[in-house]
Amino acid sequence: MNLHEYQGRELFARYGLPVLPGQVAGTPEEARDIATHLGGTVVIKAQVLVGGRGKAGGVKLAASPGEAYEKAKAILALTIKGLPVTRVLVAQAADIARELYCSITLDRAKKLPLVMISAEGGVEIEEVARTAPEKIQRFHVPFLTGLLPFQARALFRPALPDGKQVAQAADVLLKLWRLYEDADASLAEINPLVVTPGGEIKALDAKVIVDDNAEYRHREWAEWRNPEDETPSARLARQKGLSYVKLDGDIGCVVNGAGLAMATLDLIKHYGGEPANFLDIGGSSSPEKVTTALKIITGDSNVRAILFNIFGGITRGDDVARGIVQSLDASPLSVPLVIRITGTNEEQAREILAGRGLAATTSMDEGVRTVIARAQEVAA
Ligand code: GDP
Ligand code: MN
Repeated sequence: MNLHEYQGRELFARYGLPVLPGQVAGTPEEARDIATHLGGTVVIKAQVLVGGRGKAGGVKLAASPGEAYEKAKAILALTIKGLPVTRVLVAQAADIARELYCSITLDRAKKLPLVMISAEGGVEIEEVARTAPEKIQRFHVPFLTGLLPFQARALFRPALPDGKQVAQAADVLLKLWRLYEDADASLAEINPLVVTPGGEIKALDAKVIVDDNAEYRHREWAEWRNPEDETPSARLARQKGLSYVKLDGDIGCVVNGAGLAMATLDLIKHYGGEPANFLDIGGSSSPEKVTTALKIITGDSNVRAILFNIFGGITRGDDVARGIVQSLDASPLSVPLVIRITGTNEEQAREILAGRGLAATTSMDEGVRTVIARAQEVAA
């Protein structure tokens, strides 16, 4: 789950990271009141889950409550990268002498957390990473020791001119490290981490991604989830324990097992088709899971044909077949359905399907080619 900046900065504050006071507003009036309360210049920031808000006009300074009202009104009218802005953060503004970049992420290739620090932070960090990767300090954090103070200081030494600033910035990074570990984060990023003209270090942005697999030990995450940040299909899948990822194509896929699901997507691509989703109904599939899967997939209006690819092991073919029949009885499909079932109880599965006038192949290759052809017929 991606946290909004206002949620991330709440976490930051809890871990003692230097964020400036602020509050979230849903209307220009609220923004004006918060600005009055904070006093002085404030920054108004769109709360949408994408980067590059600054460049898109979603971050503006306001010198007075009246200006805060106007800027908030303008930002609340924006749609940034397809996401309508429904809330803004109103925070005390900082004066900036320098902008640094500081993040901790998971390096899956090395299987270790990775700290990245750059003296050239701010809105151009992607540019720096592309054109001058050597300007970014990197450090893989060993699991046994965690991040140690001398390592944190060494990372900032090339970026900052004096020991006092290095010590302050290192302290920020060590706190960020604790947060990263405690919150089961896969990303904790401060961009920009700024140095004020007075030499103080402040965190002006907070980007945190937490690992959904750890939800069971973080009660507050349920409250952090905003309904509008999640599509209805994604929500249904999460609630019912199905792994679902929406893709851009037109062939809906219901598969058991993540490996087979990946292989199915590959084979669809191989034969010139475009998958509409990744969906793993899991190892042991009740008829109910199949019904849910079909509900999720038919919720995607791009879908022109649906493929079931079931290799029965612990998953029983008859359970899946029963789920398909139950779903069709409840609500008939408006797109063609192609079924491949082999493995456990495949004979029974075939009988159940035949009773409903449905055929199933045992060949994955044939199933994939057929579903691509059906989707093309629908498109034509
Ligand atoms: P992003 O573009 O979505 O990452 O949004 P950021 O929160 O990082 O803001 C983008 C840019 O706005 C920053 O790099 C700063 O240059 C500027 N900015 C953000 N907060 C402040 C602030 O308090 N004062 C000043 N002067 N500039 C700010
Ligand atoms: Mn930023």
